[in-house]
Amino acid sequence: MMKTLALYPGSFDPVTKGHEDLIRRCASLFENVVVAVAHNPNKQVSLFEVEERLKFLTKSVEIMGLSNVSVTQFSGLTVKFAKQIGASVIIRGLRVISDFEYECSMYQANRTLEDTIDTLFLMPSLEYQFLSSRMVREIAYFQGDITSFVSPHVQQALLQKVKSTA
Ligand code: ADP
Repeated sequence: MMKTLALYPGSFDPVTKGHEDLIRRCASLFENVVVAVAHNPNKQVSLFEVEERLKFLTKSVEIMGLSNVSVTQFSGLTVKFAKQIGASVIIRGLRVISDFEYECSMYQANRTLEDTIDTLFLMPSLEYQFLSSRMVREIAYFQGDITSFVSPHVQQALLQKVKSTA
């Protein structure tokens, strides 16, 4: 296990089993992990408020029983936040092809901004390679079954959200 604090940032709108897979693996790779929900005003409108996304993540971490993982939120540059909390590594997920270009440019930009902080990429398990929050939101919107994609507490919240916006 690396004696390092790792930061896993993202939108988590909402947290999926793919994110949980990465969080679980980070928890066994690093001494401490901070999962942080980014406030990103440039991102298309989100489905869940940051507070709700935090609540889902906290519950997921609790269910997985990961005592070295904490959940928080941040705004502004990810590298700045990483430095602020003393994280030396940023974790990002890399799914087949789709993420590569975006993650590559983010990686280069972050290295230029802050060369003391590196980014490590983890690939999800095969079953989550094609899973995204966006896909989950769309399937839920059309009342599809999302049992395979999100944990029960997220599924419940999504169903409620879809009902309330219908
Ligand atoms: P962002 O808006 O920062 O991309 P996301 O919540 O969509 O936020 O994703 C956060 C991180 O988790 C990203 O690095 C993304 O590639 C990764 N990720 C998302 N879904 C999966 C998945 N199914 N498997 C592995 N990594 C994933």
